[in-house]
Amino acid sequence: MKSYNGYLLDLDGTIYRGTEAIEGAKEFLSHLKDQHIPYLFLTNNSSASPQQVAIRLQKMGIDASPDEVYTSSMATAQYMSEHEAGCTVYMIGEEGLRQELVQHGFVLTEESPQYVVVGIDRTFTYEKLAIAATAVRKGAKLIATNPDPAIPTEKGLQPGNGSLIAAVSVAAATKPIVIGKPEPIIVRYALERLGTEAAQTLVVGDNLHTDIEAGANSGLDSLLVLTGYSTREDAEDHAVQPTYITEDLTAWRRRISRGV
Ligand SMILES: [Mg+2]
Repeated sequence: MKSYNGYLLDLDGTIYRGTEAIEGAKEFLSHLKDQHIPYLFLTNNSSASPQQVAIRLQKMGIDASPDEVYTSSMATAQYMSEHEAGCTVYMIGEEGLRQELVQHGFVLTEESPQYVVVGIDRTFTYEKLAIAATAVRKGAKLIATNPDPAIPTEKGLQPGNGSLIAAVSVAAATKPIVIGKPEPIIVRYALERLGTEAAQTLVVGDNLHTDIEAGANSGLDSLLVLTGYSTREDAEDHAVQPTYITEDLTAWRRRISRGV
């Protein structure tokens, strides 16, 4: 088996489920630290700040710092800074997205914004939809932090940002620019942060549509972990195949120790 110089690790369904670390995740992260293999937590979840994500991980007994976390909100703010720094934005989203946009110097407004940015917002309303759609129809560029149609929760699958962006996109008759996995934009920024080449980096996640396709779209090998969203049967039917499939990160750690 090829050995990798860096890892991009999904969080939900890969490292934790709800408030619990997934079996083997902690030990796998310790293994990477011991081997001095750099990794970055790469998440499509735009709602939490890297500080909040790090605290969440620490509460599960996982040693993590904010600079090990890269979110779709961070990638969105980085992308917009490269294209139209300091412009006006109407945002649908939560604290993690708001914080990144404000920190990057964007001005949040409902009045004729240059951009409309949509991230998961659990207080989404018809009014927000109307403001966003009107702005886009008047020429604002439409950006989606991530395309996930649904997110796994304790109550089962709940609407994800893909559902919200679909509403805005239909209402405004405009397709969004999508930043998060499986798009190459977030992966490019994450690799810059990690400091490793695509061909030497493994992307790890539980979702064929986001994590595994992100690898395929950006030239990275991928590992599907069967501890979350996608099943082995899903993988058999999926057009894009992961490079590897593992039951969980314990099994993967054993496999890389054996080198096969
Ligand atoms: Mg996941």
